[in-house]
Amino acid sequence: MVSRVIPVDPFDLVIFGGTGDLAQRKILPALFRRFCAGQWPDDAQIIGAARAEYTPDAFREVVAESLRSHAPSQSRNADALNTFLQRVDYVPLDALSDTAWGRLAAKLTDDRVRAFYFSVGPQLFGQLAERIKHHDLATPKTRIVVEKPFGHDLESARALNAILAEHFSEGQIYRIDHYLGKETVQNLMAVRFGNMLFEPLWNSQYVDHIQITVAESVGIDGREEYYDRAGAMRDMMQNHLMQLLCLIAMEPPAKFDPDAVRDEKLKVIRALDPVEPHHIVRGQFDAGPSGAGYRDTVGNPRSTTESYVALRAHVSNWRWAGTPFYLRTGKRLIERSSVINVMFKDAPHSIFGADAGRHANVLSIRLQPNEGITLKVTIKEPGPGGMRLVDVPLDMSFAEALGSENQDPPDAYERLVMDVIRGNQTLFMRGDEVEAAWAWTDPIIAGWQARGDVPKPYDSGSTGPGDAELLMKRDGRRWQGINP
Ligand code: NAD
Repeated sequence: MVSRVIPVDPFDLVIFGGTGDLAQRKILPALFRRFCAGQWPDDAQIIGAARAEYTPDAFREVVAESLRSHAPSQSRNADALNTFLQRVDYVPLDALSDTAWGRLAAKLTDDRVRAFYFSVGPQLFGQLAERIKHHDLATPKTRIVVEKPFGHDLESARALNAILAEHFSEGQIYRIDHYLGKETVQNLMAVRFGNMLFEPLWNSQYVDHIQITVAESVGIDGREEYYDRAGAMRDMMQNHLMQLLCLIAMEPPAKFDPDAVRDEKLKVIRALDPVEPHHIVRGQFDAGPSGAGYRDTVGNPRSTTESYVALRAHVSNWRWAGTPFYLRTGKRLIERSSVINVMFKDAPHSIFGADAGRHANVLSIRLQPNEGITLKVTIKEPGPGGMRLVDVPLDMSFAEALGSENQDPPDAYERLVMDVIRGNQTLFMRGDEVEAAWAWTDPIIAGWQARGDVPKPYDSGSTGPGDAELLMKRDGRRWQGINP
């Protein structure tokens, strides 16, 4: 199956922070892959803008080097690489100063789609929005793309929303959560709303509980200062896991359009109960073969920041009353794996007798690695010897199902950056969604601070603190393996 490429309108894309890690490792390689796929029109260019005093040629060399590392197969095509680099330009610019904006303006074309990607530290988001407006760079076709973190708490998120809203309409603001650009996440909506099979069972009558795991094997090297102020709750739970929960729990939107989808997600967040303290486990990794312990890594021997959090959430509405959602995420865990497990209830009565054991269906949606969906079903164990039951997976790995040209599934940023150019906000967070997520998160963090809560240590390379197992065990349940 060959994927369809829908060309986009001519555009100018300015990447503030174009020399930084995210731009070089993710955004520019994503744009290059889309270029190679033929999605770019002739009239399109990228302008890097950052503090470094590069000439355009020196910047192109830096970009070429990054593309060789992060889009290796495409960059082996020297013609494609050179043609792409001709579309790349650079302006040295300090977001905190009013000089150089005229030079940037001179490189832009009035009637094209114009996108400004804020790939700089969050303290600069407001400044950039103000200066774009002040220097008259915002046209009706202008969009701004705002990276995470979007605020540190409800108050700062509200303040940032207010600054952005002074200069841009909500329809021009693209708040990125790159999880929403992952193929499997979009597939989750296709599976739920494109099939008759699942939706009738998608409720508390048939679903026992839901598990969402985002496990990382890496630590926090290179981001120590930011992470120690944020922790797993702010860095992962408030945004990525919350978004996954929304897509699993939301009602079918009337259509696949930005506000219809985001209205339904917002209703889920607003229906979340406050989380009881005994339904949360925080952890902090100890030293292990893969490196130093958390406190040594951040250089703060008394840090009480969590690198792991597991919790039990409840969506209080008709569909989900009584069905818990167990969410967990952490660093330095045994494996890198993001998976959603929808755990169906046992069959109400076993006609095969007590010896047949208990069997329940599990729908596993794997985000990484090996994106795909598995449905565990119960069948008869082959062979004579009575009616013995066994669970087997109906496995659909997307790479296998879609053919060899999809072995290298598109990176989330490919989809998201092109959606910005197309003007499609469906996979971006709306301001009220972000605020609602903080409104749910803030009391949890405030509770830890008020109680002087200290995270439980866990071994690097393990599945996390033992208390997270207890969280499930108390409810008569257990986590599925981190990599099922
Ligand atoms: P980085 O430190 O590697 O790069 C920052 C960039 O901003 C550099 O190009 C730098 O020159 C530029 N910059 C700094 N101060 C500036 C100023 N005053 N004026 C103009 N440019 C300035 O950071 P990064 O890792 O690329 O992260 C960028 C943003 O993306 C951050 O908000 C971060 O939270 C977010 N983000 C990064 C990642 C990642 O994997 N790196 C993932 C998710 C979100």
